Amino acid sequence: MTDTASHRPPASAIALASALQELARTDRLLLALDFDGTLAPFVDVTRGARALPESKAALDRLEHLPDTWVAYVSGRPLSSLETVTEADEDALLVGSHGVEIRFGRDGVSLDLDAREQDTLARLGAALQALVDDIPDTKLETKPVGFGVHYRRVSAGRGPEVVARAREAAAAVSDELTIRDGKDIIEFSIRGADKGDGVERLREYTHATAVLFAGDDVTDEDGFAVLHPERGDVGIKVGAGETAAQYRVADERAIATLLGLLAQAREAHLKSSTD
Ligand SMILES: [Mg+2]
Repeated sequence: MTDTASHRPPASAIALASALQELARTDRLLLALDFDGTLAPFVDVTRGARALPESKAALDRLEHLPDTWVAYVSGRPLSSLETVTEADEDALLVGSHGVEIRFGRDGVSLDLDAREQDTLARLGAALQALVDDIPDTKLETKPVGFGVHYRRVSAGRGPEVVARAREAAAAVSDELTIRDGKDIIEFSIRGADKGDGVERLREYTHATAVLFAGDDVTDEDGFAVLHPERGDVGIKVGAGETAAQYRVADERAIATLLGLLAQAREAHLKSSTD
């Protein structure tokens, strides 16, 4: 009996190399890249994370080429992403899993419409009233929502805080994204994900093909919006279920691929101007 799954070549390095050669020839190329675990190895102090020097060098080459854009798409808050990517003023950044966006000189954009701004204000007021009423709770303001912290309330009263917070939020809107965390409950007026971020980047740059790479579960939303039939390339870094077409082992492999892509893109642009 043949077990086809185990005979499938791992990520087919040859197919990936040829997909990158093809990608390098597209008219308008967008690289949308996760940061931690894709470009940068994980470190204990998260603000100390930096892309591997080989990746950084390749990305510097790529972003200086015509019709070529490099963007970072991360779960980090935008401010943190700016620091670790050492972004210049032209950088394309998508933070907080697609919620916060900074497209170069077009500035920070959350694009909240009037209705969303109103919901956000009313949600903030309702939750502030709640934490004022329950000792030892604290309100945290997030880019598009709020977190109610209750780590310091007496043991056993957590569920009551959560229930009251849910009730207060539900009175404001029934369309909130709710994340139940450790001693925190968060309410967001936006449920954006990395796929939304990639789509926004594609629109902004008018890219004719996109490379997206990421290592985590949340990156699957990015792979889901790719169109391989139109030349998009998705690369999963490391182990785990994925919808990406290709897989590589680690950040070092990504660095190598980015170097190859920079070379191929430079050669293509040079040949098309000769
Ligand atoms: Mg990551």
